[in-house]
Amino acid sequence: MLRDPQVLIVGAGPVGVALACELLQQGISLRIVDKVERLDDTDPHSRGILIWPRSLEVLRRIQVSDRLVARGHRTAGVNYYSGGRLLGPARLDRIPDTPYPFLLTLPQRETEKVLRERFTELGGHVERGVAMEELSGDPDAPVVALRHSDGRREVVTPGWVIGADGPASVVRDQLGIRFDGDPIDVTYAIGDAPVTGRLARNAQYYYSRHGVIALVPLRDGHYRIAANVPHRTEADGPPSREYLQSLLAKRACREVTVGEPDWTRSFRPRLGMAENFRKGRCFLAGDAAHVVSPAGGQGLNVGFLDAASLGWRLAGVIRGELPERVLDEYDHERRSAAARMSRTSAAQARFGLQRRRTRIAVRDMLFVVGRMTGLVQRVLVPLLSQTDVTYGEQITEPFIWRHPSPVRPGQRLPMFASLDLATYTVLLWPGRRPSADWALVQAELARQFPDHVGIRDLASVPGPTQAILCRALGRRPAVAVARPDGHLSLLVPVERVDRAVSFIGSATVSSNIAGIRSDTLSRRSDIYHRGSTMENLR
Ligand SMILES: Cc1cc2nc3c(=O)[nH]c(=O)nc-3n(C[C@H](O)[C@H](O)[C@H](O)COP(=O)(O)OP(=O)(O)OC[C@H]3O[C@@H](n4cnc5c(N)ncnc54)[C@H](O)[C@@H]3O)c2cc1C
Repeated sequence: MLRDPQVLIVGAGPVGVALACELLQQGISLRIVDKVERLDDTDPHSRGILIWPRSLEVLRRIQVSDRLVARGHRTAGVNYYSGGRLLGPARLDRIPDTPYPFLLTLPQRETEKVLRERFTELGGHVERGVAMEELSGDPDAPVVALRHSDGRREVVTPGWVIGADGPASVVRDQLGIRFDGDPIDVTYAIGDAPVTGRLARNAQYYYSRHGVIALVPLRDGHYRIAANVPHRTEADGPPSREYLQSLLAKRACREVTVGEPDWTRSFRPRLGMAENFRKGRCFLAGDAAHVVSPAGGQGLNVGFLDAASLGWRLAGVIRGELPERVLDEYDHERRSAAARMSRTSAAQARFGLQRRRTRIAVRDMLFVVGRMTGLVQRVLVPLLSQTDVTYGEQITEPFIWRHPSPVRPGQRLPMFASLDLATYTVLLWPGRRPSADWALVQAELARQFPDHVGIRDLASVPGPTQAILCRALGRRPAVAVARPDGHLSLLVPVERVDRAVSFIGSATVSSNIAGIRSDTLSRRSDIYHRGSTMENLR
């Protein structure tokens, strides 16, 4: 490890380590420090348990998704109840174009373990018992003071600093970035325990006049139980098994038995959003940048999308292949995506906390109408799974009229493996029925791009995959430019290939890219000739 690395990551929580993997696998030298000296592997306490499809899609980039899936528990969706009656399910198993059509549940400590294992495989090492104390100097030339657990003070001058140091971020504080609080102030009682009785297999949210309780299946018959409760003091102690049982009986109206919990806790999160995610050469990611209501189980997931968005940009800028302005886009794109998730998670919390009969009736009716008209599947499911996160222009038409295809710039493309991890990929799409001379056409199109650009001809996609791409890219021949994180940058008819060529010209610093990664590109060139539909998409 270099003493003054290219990047210093402060905080080795899940987001810091995911980002460290992103950077390390792209050859960027880094140090990652965490103030906690020793991890307690015997502590059963775990925070986030829900991993939504988009997180698994982006975590593929660092090759941990399949490991997480292997260790976790798959759930087909989320059932919403009111007064014990089923309002309807949000079915993730019906998402048509993801390799991960389910909600994965896995205790956060295990998710973190998988990430750390991957980081070690990549040759990384977390420096424990090292706290960031001070960040001084110009944010364009940061000077960082670290305190080691033996009392030693070390001053480093990394090229870039990433604050992934959680909700009470010292990096954020030292940069003087405001953290605007959210007025929602709710205490939650949570715990993991075996639960027996007649229960649906899906995750379950029970709304009632007494409050909300969520019951989310984990492995081995255990469930995460989470409920809003009156504010508690330390003297109240952790919620007891009997308390959780009584909350379930009252709110879920279910004859179930809560066994001895592995652990319980109450917590009162301070929600908020940093006013900037970037200042000079310093960035915020994960909870350091945003703390969203736990009601939606999205906080960690928003952090994973931060890591996927910042990793390729920073690596590309450090290597001199991408212009520095892509880093401003990180600030803009991720701040608005996090703000949106924060609003929807807060709305979800409010949605569940209605007490007046008329409001409850309206809420329940809205949900049932949404289910019957298909809006739950078309709007709520993409929102929960974060597959609808878009970095393009604001879509203005009401969501009822929105058409999912073709994909617009900024939206996610349903392609998960055949993209370059480090830079833009040009996709040549022959349309629904490729013309007889497509081989000639695509060769002519490809010829117009500089040699260093990765190009994928999508002509040999098998039928079912073609249908998915047809929805995404349209029925007519087209040229698309995809970002490394799988979002569309540009989609033009083949006649306007010049626009794609000039986009590539302005979006990359071509003189530095030439000659790199030819091995990576060739490894993925046959991706569409193998396996089943989803394998191909993956
Ligand atoms: C009870 C609970 C339930 C939740 N459930 C869900 C869920 O179901 N789904 C979901 O997506 N999210 C959930 N979340 C949110 C999720 O846990 C967080 O969003 C996630 O942990 C954020 O990860 P992070 O890496 O950004 O920060 P953290 O996990 O907080 O990690 C920050 C790291 O930085 C280190 N650090 C702090 N200060 C310094 C310093 N000065 N120097 C060096 N190191 C430092 C800390 O030791 C820590 O290791 C839940 C949260 C809670 C509290």
